[in-house]
Amino acid sequence: MRLSKRVETITPSSTLAITAKAAELKAQGYDVIGLGAGQPDFNTPDFIIEAAYAAAKAGHTKYTATGGLSELKAAIVGKLKRDQNFDYDPTQILVGNGAKHVLYLLFQALLNSGDEVIIPAPYWVSYPEQVKLAGGVPVFIATAEQNHFKMTVADLEKTATHKTRALIISSPSNPTGMIYSKEELEPIASFCLKHNILIISDEIYEKLIYNGNTFFSIAQLSERVKKNTVVINGVSKSHSMTGWRIGYAAADAGLIKAMTAVASHSTSNPVSISQYAAIAAYNGPQESIETMRQAFEKRLNTIYPRLSALPGVTCIKPQGAFYLFPNVRKLSDACGFSSVTEWSAALLDEEKVAIVPGAGFGMPDYVRLSYATSLENLEHALDRIEHFIKKHR
Ligand code: PLP
Repeated sequence: MRLSKRVETITPSSTLAITAKAAELKAQGYDVIGLGAGQPDFNTPDFIIEAAYAAAKAGHTKYTATGGLSELKAAIVGKLKRDQNFDYDPTQILVGNGAKHVLYLLFQALLNSGDEVIIPAPYWVSYPEQVKLAGGVPVFIATAEQNHFKMTVADLEKTATHKTRALIISSPSNPTGMIYSKEELEPIASFCLKHNILIISDEIYEKLIYNGNTFFSIAQLSERVKKNTVVINGVSKSHSMTGWRIGYAAADAGLIKAMTAVASHSTSNPVSISQYAAIAAYNGPQESIETMRQAFEKRLNTIYPRLSALPGVTCIKPQGAFYLFPNVRKLSDACGFSSVTEWSAALLDEEKVAIVPGAGFGMPDYVRLSYATSLENLEHALDRIEHFIKKHR
Protein backbone atom coordinates (compact mmCIF):
# COMPACT_ATOMS: atom_id res chain seq x y z
CA MET A 1 0.00 0.00 0.00
CA ARG A 2 1.37 3.41 -0.92
CA LEU A 3 1.26 5.65 2.12
CA SER A 4 1.55 9.39 2.51
CA LYS A 5 5.04 10.89 2.75
CA ARG A 6 3.83 12.58 5.90
CA VAL A 7 3.10 9.32 7.68
CA GLU A 8 6.28 7.68 6.40
CA THR A 9 8.39 10.17 8.33
CA ILE A 10 7.01 9.23 11.72
CA THR A 11 7.86 6.36 14.04
CA PRO A 12 5.22 4.75 16.23
CA SER A 13 5.40 5.58 19.95
CA SER A 14 8.17 3.49 21.55
CA THR A 15 6.53 3.67 24.96
CA LEU A 16 3.25 2.29 23.64
CA ALA A 17 5.21 -0.36 21.68
CA ILE A 18 7.00 -1.66 24.77
CA THR A 19 3.75 -1.68 26.73
CA ALA A 20 2.12 -3.70 23.92
CA LYS A 21 5.04 -6.18 23.83
CA ALA A 22 4.87 -6.63 27.60
CA ALA A 23 1.09 -7.19 27.40
CA GLU A 24 1.61 -9.77 24.65
CA LEU A 25 4.14 -11.70 26.77
CA LYS A 26 1.76 -11.52 29.74
CA ALA A 27 -1.05 -12.93 27.59
CA GLN A 28 1.25 -15.83 26.70
CA GLY A 29 1.46 -16.60 30.42
CA TYR A 30 4.82 -14.99 31.27
CA ASP A 31 5.30 -13.22 34.57
CA VAL A 32 6.21 -9.82 33.15
CA ILE A 33 7.04 -6.76 35.24
CA GLY A 34 6.10 -3.72 33.20
CA LEU A 35 8.08 -0.57 33.94
CA GLY A 36 7.27 0.89 30.55
CA ALA A 37 3.89 2.46 31.11
CA GLY A 38 3.44 6.16 31.56
CA GLN A 39 0.40 5.95 33.75
CA PRO A 40 -0.39 5.85 37.47
CA ASP A 41 -1.28 2.37 38.68
CA PHE A 42 -4.06 3.63 41.00
CA ASN A 43 -7.72 3.42 40.14
CA THR A 44 -9.53 6.66 39.40
CA PRO A 45 -11.00 7.98 42.70
CA ASP A 46 -14.54 6.67 43.31
CA PHE A 47 -16.26 10.06 43.44
CA ILE A 48 -15.06 10.77 39.91
CA ILE A 49 -16.33 7.45 38.59
CA GLU A 50 -19.65 8.07 40.32
CA ALA A 51 -19.96 11.50 38.68
CA ALA A 52 -19.47 9.90 35.26
CA TYR A 53 -22.04 7.23 36.03
CA ALA A 54 -24.56 9.79 37.22
CA ALA A 55 -23.96 11.87 34.07
CA ALA A 56 -24.55 8.84 31.84
CA LYS A 57 -27.72 7.94 33.74
CA ALA A 58 -28.93 11.55 33.44
CA GLY A 59 -28.65 11.33 29.67
CA HIS A 60 -25.42 13.25 29.13
CA THR A 61 -24.42 10.81 26.43
CA LYS A 62 -24.74 13.11 23.43
CA TYR A 63 -22.40 15.38 21.49
CA THR A 64 -21.22 18.39 23.44
CA ALA A 65 -19.62 21.63 22.30
CA THR A 66 -16.45 20.71 20.39
CA GLY A 67 -14.00 22.41 22.74
CA GLY A 68 -15.67 21.09 25.89
CA LEU A 69 -18.68 21.76 28.12
CA SER A 70 -18.87 25.26 29.55
CA GLU A 71 -19.08 23.74 33.09
CA LEU A 72 -15.79 21.95 32.45
CA LYS A 73 -14.14 25.06 31.05
CA ALA A 74 -15.30 26.89 34.18
CA ALA A 75 -13.85 24.12 36.38
CA ILE A 76 -10.51 24.41 34.52
CA VAL A 77 -10.53 28.21 34.86
CA GLY A 78 -11.12 27.60 38.60
CA LYS A 79 -8.26 25.12 38.82
CA LEU A 80 -5.87 27.53 37.11
CA LYS A 81 -6.91 30.30 39.51
CA ARG A 82 -6.59 28.02 42.58
CA ASP A 83 -3.21 26.58 41.70
CA GLN A 84 -1.35 29.42 39.94
CA ASN A 85 -3.59 32.45 40.55
CA PHE A 86 -4.08 32.66 36.78
CA ASP A 87 -6.93 34.63 35.29
CA TYR A 88 -8.15 32.90 32.14
CA ASP A 89 -11.42 33.44 30.32
CA PRO A 90 -13.34 30.33 29.19
CA THR A 91 -12.70 31.44 25.57
CA GLN A 92 -9.02 30.78 26.28
CA ILE A 93 -9.63 27.11 27.16
CA LEU A 94 -9.93 24.10 24.87
CA VAL A 95 -10.67 20.61 26.17
CA GLY A 96 -9.53 17.71 24.01
CA ASN A 97 -9.09 13.94 24.13
CA GLY A 98 -6.06 14.05 26.43
CA ALA A 99 -3.11 16.43 26.47
CA LYS A 100 -1.62 14.45 23.59
CA HIS A 101 -4.56 15.32 21.36
CA VAL A 102 -4.54 18.93 22.50
CA LEU A 103 -0.87 19.21 21.50
CA TYR A 104 -1.73 17.67 18.14
CA LEU A 105 -4.43 20.28 17.57
CA LEU A 106 -2.00 23.00 18.60
CA PHE A 107 0.64 22.04 16.03
CA GLN A 108 -2.01 21.68 13.33
CA ALA A 109 -3.33 25.15 14.11
CA LEU A 110 0.07 26.80 14.55
CA LEU A 111 2.57 25.51 12.03
CA ASN A 112 3.19 26.21 8.37
CA SER A 113 5.38 23.92 6.33
CA GLY A 114 9.00 24.38 7.37
CA ASP A 115 8.26 26.17 10.65
CA GLU A 116 10.66 25.06 13.35
CA VAL A 117 9.82 23.97 16.87
CA ILE A 118 12.64 23.74 19.41
CA ILE A 119 12.52 20.60 21.53
CA PRO A 120 15.09 20.03 24.30
CA ALA A 121 16.30 16.40 24.39
CA PRO A 122 15.53 14.11 26.08
CA TYR A 123 11.93 14.74 25.11
CA TRP A 124 8.57 13.06 25.33
CA VAL A 125 8.34 10.77 22.31
CA SER A 126 5.30 12.39 20.70
CA TYR A 127 6.56 15.97 20.39
CA PRO A 128 8.77 15.57 17.30
CA GLU A 129 6.34 13.25 15.55
CA GLN A 130 3.41 15.61 16.09
CA VAL A 131 5.45 18.55 14.80
CA LYS A 132 6.35 16.55 11.67
CA LEU A 133 2.72 15.52 11.14
CA ALA A 134 1.84 19.23 11.03
CA GLY A 135 4.52 19.91 8.39
CA GLY A 136 6.88 21.47 10.93
CA VAL A 137 10.52 20.72 11.62
CA PRO A 138 11.58 19.56 15.10
CA VAL A 139 14.91 21.12 16.08
CA PHE A 140 16.61 19.59 19.09
CA ILE A 141 18.73 21.01 21.87
CA ALA A 142 20.90 18.30 23.39
CA THR A 143 21.09 18.61 27.16
CA ALA A 144 23.48 16.84 29.52
CA GLU A 145 22.98 14.83 32.67
CA GLN A 146 25.58 16.95 34.53
CA ASN A 147 23.40 20.03 33.80
CA HIS A 148 20.33 18.17 35.06
CA PHE A 149 19.12 17.79 31.47
CA LYS A 150 18.24 21.48 31.27
CA MET A 151 18.64 23.89 28.37
CA THR A 152 19.93 27.42 28.82
CA VAL A 153 19.54 30.66 26.87
CA ALA A 154 22.97 30.04 25.34
CA ASP A 155 21.54 26.83 23.82
CA LEU A 156 18.53 28.74 22.53
CA GLU A 157 20.72 31.42 20.97
CA LYS A 158 22.61 28.76 19.03
CA THR A 159 19.46 26.96 17.93
CA ALA A 160 16.81 29.57 17.15
CA THR A 161 16.44 30.82 13.57
CA HIS A 162 14.00 33.14 11.83
CA LYS A 163 11.87 30.04 11.21
CA THR A 164 11.51 29.18 14.91
CA ARG A 165 7.84 29.31 15.82
CA ALA A 166 7.72 27.65 19.24
CA LEU A 167 9.68 26.12 22.12
CA ILE A 168 8.45 23.15 24.15
CA ILE A 169 9.12 22.97 27.87
CA SER A 170 8.22 19.78 29.73
CA SER A 171 8.52 20.45 33.46
CA PRO A 172 8.42 18.23 35.46
CA SER A 173 9.97 16.39 32.56
CA ASN A 174 9.07 13.11 31.01
CA PRO A 175 11.49 11.28 30.93
CA THR A 176 13.97 12.89 33.39
CA GLY A 177 11.73 14.16 36.20
CA MET A 178 13.64 17.47 36.30
CA ILE A 179 11.82 20.72 37.13
CA TYR A 180 12.81 24.17 35.87
CA SER A 181 12.97 26.79 38.63
CA LYS A 182 11.58 30.30 38.32
CA GLU A 183 15.14 31.62 38.01
CA GLU A 184 15.93 29.20 35.17
CA LEU A 185 12.70 30.03 33.34
CA GLU A 186 13.12 33.82 33.47
CA PRO A 187 15.86 34.20 30.84
CA ILE A 188 14.22 31.55 28.64
CA ALA A 189 10.93 33.47 28.70
CA SER A 190 12.70 36.79 27.94
CA PHE A 191 14.46 35.21 24.98
CA CYS A 192 11.17 33.84 23.62
CA LEU A 193 9.43 37.20 24.01
CA LYS A 194 12.27 39.01 22.28
CA HIS A 195 12.29 36.62 19.33
CA ASN A 196 8.54 36.11 19.13
CA ILE A 197 8.75 32.40 19.92
CA LEU A 198 5.61 30.84 21.39
CA ILE A 199 6.19 28.90 24.61
CA ILE A 200 4.44 25.55 24.93
CA SER A 201 4.48 24.60 28.61
CA ASP A 202 3.56 20.96 29.14
CA GLU A 203 2.51 20.80 32.80
CA ILE A 204 0.91 17.36 32.84
CA TYR A 205 3.10 16.20 35.79
CA GLU A 206 2.47 19.38 37.79
CA LYS A 207 0.99 17.52 40.76
CA LEU A 208 3.69 14.86 41.03
CA ILE A 209 6.54 16.63 42.80
CA TYR A 210 8.70 15.06 45.50
CA ASN A 211 11.00 15.67 48.41
CA GLY A 212 10.24 19.35 48.95
CA ASN A 213 10.69 20.44 45.32
CA THR A 214 8.15 22.90 43.96
CA PHE A 215 6.45 23.53 40.63
CA PHE A 216 6.50 26.88 38.87
CA SER A 217 4.69 27.57 35.60
CA ILE A 218 6.58 29.79 33.14
CA ALA A 219 3.28 31.61 32.49
CA GLN A 220 3.40 32.85 36.11
CA LEU A 221 6.36 35.09 35.32
CA SER A 222 4.28 37.98 33.95
CA GLU A 223 1.13 38.80 32.01
CA ARG A 224 3.26 39.23 28.87
CA VAL A 225 4.80 35.78 29.26
CA LYS A 226 1.38 34.27 29.99
CA LYS A 227 0.03 35.76 26.74
CA ASN A 228 2.94 34.17 24.88
CA THR A 229 2.43 30.74 26.45
CA VAL A 230 0.20 27.77 25.78
CA VAL A 231 -0.32 25.87 29.04
CA ILE A 232 -1.00 22.16 28.47
CA ASN A 233 -2.38 19.98 31.24
CA GLY A 234 -5.06 17.40 32.02
CA VAL A 235 -6.41 14.87 34.47
CA SER A 236 -4.49 11.82 33.23
CA LYS A 237 -1.59 11.90 35.66
CA SER A 238 -2.97 14.12 38.44
CA HIS A 239 -6.18 12.14 39.00
CA SER A 240 -5.11 8.77 37.59
CA MET A 241 -7.47 9.16 34.63
CA THR A 242 -5.37 8.19 31.61
CA GLY A 243 -8.14 6.13 30.00
CA TRP A 244 -10.76 8.86 30.26
CA ARG A 245 -8.84 11.03 27.74
CA ILE A 246 -9.32 14.56 29.01
CA GLY A 247 -6.66 17.24 28.57
CA TYR A 248 -6.75 20.96 27.98
CA ALA A 249 -4.91 23.97 26.61
CA ALA A 250 -5.06 27.47 28.09
CA ALA A 251 -3.91 30.07 25.58
CA ASP A 252 -4.71 33.08 23.43
CA ALA A 253 -8.40 33.02 22.41
CA GLY A 254 -7.59 33.23 18.67
CA LEU A 255 -5.33 30.19 18.86
CA ILE A 256 -7.91 28.27 20.91
CA LYS A 257 -10.55 29.08 18.28
CA ALA A 258 -8.31 27.72 15.51
CA MET A 259 -7.53 24.56 17.49
CA THR A 260 -11.25 24.07 18.12
CA ALA A 261 -11.90 24.34 14.37
CA VAL A 262 -9.39 21.52 13.74
CA ALA A 263 -11.07 19.40 16.43
CA SER A 264 -14.48 20.11 14.90
CA HIS A 265 -13.41 18.33 11.71
CA SER A 266 -11.55 15.45 13.34
CA THR A 267 -12.72 14.18 16.72
CA SER A 268 -15.56 16.58 17.60
CA ASN A 269 -15.95 16.80 21.39
CA PRO A 270 -14.08 14.70 23.95
CA VAL A 271 -16.23 11.90 25.45
CA SER A 272 -19.23 13.50 27.18
CA ILE A 273 -19.20 11.40 30.34
CA SER A 274 -15.42 11.83 30.71
CA GLN A 275 -16.02 15.55 30.71
CA TYR A 276 -18.42 15.19 33.64
CA ALA A 277 -15.83 13.04 35.40
CA ALA A 278 -13.25 15.79 34.87
CA ILE A 279 -15.63 18.43 36.28
CA ALA A 280 -15.83 16.32 39.45
CA ALA A 281 -12.04 15.85 39.44
CA TYR A 282 -11.37 19.60 39.36
CA ASN A 283 -14.25 20.75 41.56
CA GLY A 284 -14.26 17.87 44.07
CA PRO A 285 -11.91 16.98 46.94
CA GLN A 286 -8.24 16.98 45.93
CA GLU A 287 -6.95 14.67 48.72
CA SER A 288 -6.51 11.66 46.44
CA ILE A 289 -3.83 13.57 44.52
CA GLU A 290 -1.74 13.87 47.68
CA THR A 291 -2.26 10.19 48.60
CA MET A 292 -0.97 9.13 45.19
CA ARG A 293 1.87 11.64 45.29
CA GLN A 294 3.04 10.27 48.63
CA ALA A 295 3.01 6.72 47.30
CA PHE A 296 5.15 7.75 44.29
CA GLU A 297 7.54 9.62 46.56
CA LYS A 298 8.01 6.57 48.80
CA ARG A 299 8.69 4.37 45.79
CA LEU A 300 11.18 6.84 44.36
CA ASN A 301 13.04 7.17 47.65
CA THR A 302 13.16 3.39 48.08
CA ILE A 303 14.14 2.39 44.59
CA TYR A 304 16.45 5.22 43.54
CA PRO A 305 19.41 4.33 45.81
CA ARG A 306 19.34 0.73 44.62
CA LEU A 307 19.13 1.61 40.94
CA SER A 308 21.81 4.27 41.02
CA ALA A 309 24.18 1.89 42.86
CA LEU A 310 24.17 -0.61 39.98
CA PRO A 311 27.65 -0.93 38.44
CA GLY A 312 28.16 1.26 35.37
CA VAL A 313 24.95 3.22 35.96
CA THR A 314 24.57 6.95 36.56
CA CYS A 315 21.19 8.41 37.42
CA ILE A 316 20.10 11.82 38.55
CA LYS A 317 17.44 11.81 41.25
CA PRO A 318 14.14 12.91 39.70
CA GLN A 319 12.26 15.80 41.31
CA GLY A 320 8.88 14.98 39.81
CA ALA A 321 6.83 12.82 37.38
CA PHE A 322 7.24 9.04 37.88
CA TYR A 323 10.23 7.99 35.81
CA LEU A 324 13.89 7.21 36.38
CA PHE A 325 16.21 7.95 33.48
CA PRO A 326 19.57 6.26 34.08
CA ASN A 327 22.52 6.14 31.71
CA VAL A 328 23.22 2.41 31.26
CA ARG A 329 25.66 2.65 28.36
CA LYS A 330 28.70 1.44 30.34
CA LEU A 331 26.66 -1.35 31.84
CA SER A 332 25.30 -2.41 28.46
CA ASP A 333 28.85 -2.36 27.01
CA ALA A 334 30.13 -4.45 29.94
CA CYS A 335 27.34 -6.95 29.32
CA GLY A 336 28.50 -7.28 25.69
CA PHE A 337 25.55 -5.64 23.93
CA SER A 338 26.08 -3.40 20.93
CA SER A 339 23.47 -0.88 22.04
CA VAL A 340 21.29 0.01 24.99
CA THR A 341 18.25 -0.79 22.84
CA GLU A 342 19.55 -4.36 22.46
CA TRP A 343 20.33 -4.53 26.17
CA SER A 344 16.73 -3.56 27.01
CA ALA A 345 15.31 -6.04 24.50
CA ALA A 346 17.38 -8.84 26.07
CA LEU A 347 16.21 -7.79 29.54
CA LEU A 348 12.63 -8.22 28.41
CA ASP A 349 13.32 -11.53 26.65
CA GLU A 350 15.37 -13.13 29.41
CA GLU A 351 14.09 -11.58 32.63
CA LYS A 352 10.66 -10.32 31.55
CA VAL A 353 11.27 -6.78 32.75
CA ALA A 354 9.91 -4.15 30.37
CA ILE A 355 11.67 -0.78 30.28
CA VAL A 356 11.82 1.77 27.46
CA PRO A 357 15.10 2.35 25.58
CA GLY A 358 16.16 6.00 25.54
CA ALA A 359 16.51 6.21 21.74
CA GLY A 360 12.84 7.21 21.38
CA PHE A 361 13.47 10.10 23.80
CA GLY A 362 16.51 11.26 21.83
CA MET A 363 19.09 9.80 24.26
CA PRO A 364 20.23 6.33 23.11
CA ASP A 365 22.55 5.69 26.09
CA TYR A 366 19.68 5.91 28.56
CA VAL A 367 16.61 3.90 29.51
CA ARG A 368 13.36 5.01 31.10
CA LEU A 369 11.86 3.07 33.99
CA SER A 370 8.45 4.00 35.30
CA TYR A 371 7.86 3.63 39.03
CA ALA A 372 4.10 3.86 38.60
CA THR A 373 3.83 0.32 39.93
CA SER A 374 3.91 -1.28 43.38
CA LEU A 375 7.03 -1.25 45.54
CA GLU A 376 6.94 -5.04 45.49
CA ASN A 377 7.04 -5.05 41.68
CA LEU A 378 9.85 -2.52 41.69
CA GLU A 379 11.93 -4.59 44.14
CA HIS A 380 11.37 -7.72 42.04
CA ALA A 381 12.28 -5.86 38.87
CA LEU A 382 15.56 -4.77 40.44
CA ASP A 383 16.27 -8.36 41.60
CA ARG A 384 15.81 -9.45 38.01
CA ILE A 385 17.95 -6.65 36.60
CA GLU A 386 20.73 -7.59 39.05
CA HIS A 387 20.41 -11.23 38.00
CA PHE A 388 20.59 -10.21 34.34
CA ILE A 389 23.72 -8.15 34.94
CA LYS A 390 25.47 -11.00 36.85
CA LYS A 391 24.65 -13.38 34.02
CA HIS A 392 26.13 -11.18 31.29
CA ARG A 393 29.11 -9.42 32.84
N1 PLP B 1 2.78 15.20 27.93
C1 PLP B 1 3.64 14.36 28.51
C2 PLP B 1 5.00 14.88 28.87
C3 PLP B 1 3.29 13.04 28.77
O1 PLP B 1 4.16 12.22 29.35
C4 PLP B 1 2.00 12.59 28.40
C5 PLP B 1 1.59 11.19 28.60
O2 PLP B 1 2.37 10.31 28.77
C6 PLP B 1 1.13 13.50 27.82
C7 PLP B 1 1.55 14.80 27.59
C8 PLP B 1 -0.25 13.12 27.36
O3 PLP B 1 -1.13 12.79 28.36
P1 PLP B 1 -2.66 12.55 28.03
O4 PLP B 1 -2.84 12.53 26.57
O5 PLP B 1 -3.01 11.25 28.68
O6 PLP B 1 -3.39 13.70 28.68
